[in-house]
Amino acid sequence: MLEKAKLFLRGAHIPDKKNLSKDIPIEEMPAPPILAISLAQHIGKPATPIVNVGDRVLQGQLIGQSSGFISANIYSSVSGTVIGIEKRPNVSGAKVDHIIIENDNKYENVVLEPLADREPQTIKNRIAEAGIVGMGGAGFPTVVKLSPQTKVDTLIINGAECEPYLTCDYRVMKERPQDLLQGIRLLAKAVGVSKIIMGIEKNKPDMIEFFAKESDITVVALKKAYPMGSEKHLIYCCTGRKVPVGKLPADAGCVVQNIATALATYEAVELNKPLYERYMTCSGESLYQPRNLLVKIGTRYDDILNFCKGFKKDTAMLVSGGPMMGPAMLSTDIYTTKTSSGFLALSTKEVSVENPTNCINCGKCAQVCPMHLLPMQIDFYAQAGDFDSAESVGGVMNCISCGCCAYVCPAKRALVQSITLAKGQIMAKRRAAQAAQQQGGKK
Ligand code: SF4
Ligand code: SF4
Repeated sequence: MLEKAKLFLRGAHIPDKKNLSKDIPIEEMPAPPILAISLAQHIGKPATPIVNVGDRVLQGQLIGQSSGFISANIYSSVSGTVIGIEKRPNVSGAKVDHIIIENDNKYENVVLEPLADREPQTIKNRIAEAGIVGMGGAGFPTVVKLSPQTKVDTLIINGAECEPYLTCDYRVMKERPQDLLQGIRLLAKAVGVSKIIMGIEKNKPDMIEFFAKESDITVVALKKAYPMGSEKHLIYCCTGRKVPVGKLPADAGCVVQNIATALATYEAVELNKPLYERYMTCSGESLYQPRNLLVKIGTRYDDILNFCKGFKKDTAMLVSGGPMMGPAMLSTDIYTTKTSSGFLALSTKEVSVENPTNCINCGKCAQVCPMHLLPMQIDFYAQAGDFDSAESVGGVMNCISCGCCAYVCPAKRALVQSITLAKGQIMAKRRAAQAAQQQGGKK
């Protein structure tokens, strides 16, 4: 079934650059000799290591135990020996605990126990056991999203893949459609809804046509606009429902899951396979061989770069994820996680390297902001160190960090950096206030 989308008026129209990789079939990258598997690949508490240095581990063996409701299990991606448990930087530069494994290239494998049934709670338990998190970038434990506090009636599958360059979701839809459909139906069963909507951008007409043939799935053909894949905008375009400020998709009766998460659900339930590898797009005009890869979690970006034959001399920036929301990488000596959807080598032509100038009050950033904010005002307050006003006047905590404002700014203001700075300061202040309150309660 095919339905028209509700109109999405804001956002930016960005060249999608998907032609670099969209027609390249997925290839499995051989696992490197050494892997470093982060214990903090998700939102929430890091997992607790349950192996020691010197232990032999198997591919698919639990090595990090979920340490709370908002946490996730971590599995080994290869068989081999644990040669270290130590802090290493993640893509943002923060040092987090990693389990270092020397690959023995034997790929001796262990799987989860087969399930006795496919009841909703059984599926949810398996999703938690397999360590599945939102693989579109956020890394929120999937089982939590599938257990909303309010009644929901619709599952929305995010097939927008609106970030430029990224094509791995498209390749999964094209190459593993039946597995994906099973994963989608399992997610719907787990959350207890019969209405399934797939939102797919119009730059994937073959996938719109294919999935619209399924009688239990409504496909909404979305306008190609960024950030169409943001949860709130996707929900509006697919259902016409608005998620109130400060509320969750469940408050609009919806649960949103992405393509990779649905596929991981199928593999966990039907193949008893925990989450230890994922699809990612390696692209950018500076990369010699753009590719869609199946990569073991814990693979060093440098190894991926070598597998793609390296980058050209005019490389201006390396990015983990998509170019709009993914962080610029300072080093390739870091390791993939469950949320590593892309790796881009961007040329000087693709990246703005101009220095910022003063704001000229053109208003373009406000015109494109999908959250109806005034980014120039947030930038002004953040630069002045007035983070309270950035929150109370600028509403910075409603920002979804999509980067549209910075993309259109003719003065090349570093708007996203200002926003990130303000959000970080506000969160730090909230945490300090909470800690002081807890401390006071103990006295
Ligand atoms: S202020 Fe935030 S939500 Fe608005 S355009 Fe900028 S990054 Fe996107
Ligand atoms: S787009 Fe840039 S120059 Fe224009 S108002 Fe916004 S911050 Fe100022």
